[in-house]
Amino acid sequence: MLEGLVQHDFPLNLQHVLGRMRGVFGDSEVVTLNGDGTTRAKYSEVCQRVDRLANALDSLGVKEGDRVATFGWNSQRHLEAYLAIPCMGAVLHTLNIRLFPDQLIYIANHAEDRIVFVDDVLVPVLEKMAGEFETVEHFVVMGDGDCGSLPNVIRYEELIADQPSTFDWPELQDNQAAGLAYTSGTTGNPKGVLYSHRSQLLHAFGTCLADAMGLQAFDRVLPVVPMFHVNAWGIPYAAGLIGSDLVMPMQFLQAEPLAKLIEEERVTIAAGVPTVWLDLLNYADEHKPDLSSIRTVIGGGSAVPLALMQAFQERHGITITQAWGMTEMSPLGTVARPPAGLEEDEHWRYRDSAGRIMPLVEARLITGDGEEAPWDGTSTGELEVRGPWIASGYYEDPTGRDKFHDGWLRTGDIASIDSQGFVKITDRAKDVIKSGGEWISSVELEGELMAHPDVAEAAVIAKPDERWQERPLACVVCREGASLSAEDLIEHLRPRVAKWWLPDEISFIDEVPKTSVGKFDKKVLRKRLEAGELESEPVSQPA
Ligand code: AMP
Repeated sequence: MLEGLVQHDFPLNLQHVLGRMRGVFGDSEVVTLNGDGTTRAKYSEVCQRVDRLANALDSLGVKEGDRVATFGWNSQRHLEAYLAIPCMGAVLHTLNIRLFPDQLIYIANHAEDRIVFVDDVLVPVLEKMAGEFETVEHFVVMGDGDCGSLPNVIRYEELIADQPSTFDWPELQDNQAAGLAYTSGTTGNPKGVLYSHRSQLLHAFGTCLADAMGLQAFDRVLPVVPMFHVNAWGIPYAAGLIGSDLVMPMQFLQAEPLAKLIEEERVTIAAGVPTVWLDLLNYADEHKPDLSSIRTVIGGGSAVPLALMQAFQERHGITITQAWGMTEMSPLGTVARPPAGLEEDEHWRYRDSAGRIMPLVEARLITGDGEEAPWDGTSTGELEVRGPWIASGYYEDPTGRDKFHDGWLRTGDIASIDSQGFVKITDRAKDVIKSGGEWISSVELEGELMAHPDVAEAAVIAKPDERWQERPLACVVCREGASLSAEDLIEHLRPRVAKWWLPDEISFIDEVPKTSVGKFDKKVLRKRLEAGELESEPVSQPA
């Protein structure tokens, strides 16, 4: 092997992001929405506060490898914690504020968090369980609001007030842990995913590629996706690396404040789960806010309905770009940027896919008999992935070991891949409906149902069936003021899906239950069905 004067063994860690924010991008800004208006700070100022925060954490005895948690919305202070904690060698643990108290207690104790940063507005949520966080020594309250009954409280601003505005940053190893996030898993306890410095820097680099999220220095990026959901899809680090401004919405995630924020702050890129964009679409149709500054909206976390993307494009000139990934993947795996120069239908076929596999991510499809399925755009199998920002195991948890094998992650998603590397997610393995030995994609049925102008939301689950094993049951939320019958929906679906896919029953419900990160929670619907609490209208047509 030829060795010698090759390139430097340059450290790949998040201190590089901090350095760019302090230097070249000192004039970029972070804007935080609060109840009365906005707070603004230049990145240079943020970085000084990051130094002071690191000094403060050091004086509290935080050492390399210690877990320091956050319990907060998207904000400037949260961004400061995102930078100070990993860059001093500690591990940023983002607690998902929407999980059940039992899960949060389990997670904080499992991670052995030493300090928890909490937004003042979230104190009432946290104080109910804080007494059961066994390893936490201090609660740092962000904001001037009430500290409630939290023990060992320090105010954020007091904590950093008298600290020096320079810090002696330690030398870090590329593979040491920078962050920790727990999956909002459906079975057993939540599982921790550790993110290394190297993985986060490479992920940020990948995120900025034009065919990925395409962040640029001139962008003003609004992560609606919370910083407690896979690090807001990695956007804070990507923005810091490339110099985009950040527009942080705090807890104001409803359509009206988001529309105003986009309008007033001239946001160019926004990212979040489809439910957020469904609400914004309704609001925009009615109130016609000026959303013209938007270059693209990134949608992901669950399938983005085609009808939603088309409505935004046609009625508001906004492109929603679909992306797919998961907590175990930091999260980006694919982004749907269609090839140029396609006819309308072809263009939308690509837009409706999960997208093309990112550079540095490898994928394969494994069928039920353990064989690899070809990339022909139709053969399906479980999607497996590997790469530098994909987890190799769960943190201190042997129960999830079967997700990882031979360096690959089993995603639990069923997919096809075409010859150009575009992935189509047909279903979650556990959501797919197995009818008469064939599979029905609940995702596709939902997309087609939501294409009906009077349908606000639709979730399809399997109903046990003696003859066919399982049959699709569509749970549908009608738009306000609309009235639909089961037959209307079947007539709508008939030209769009195979005959044997047509649901035998439709359940009209008020709302589809959502998970802690805003995805449709089909678990809850299945439980209601099991308990006989899901009333449905039968449809008169043969299966
Ligand atoms: P989480 O780790 O909570 O982000 O969940 C990851 C899972 O969300 C994936 O395994 C998929 O099942 C689902 N998911 C994320 N993005 C998409 C998408 N664009 N289309 C379909 N499913 C998605």
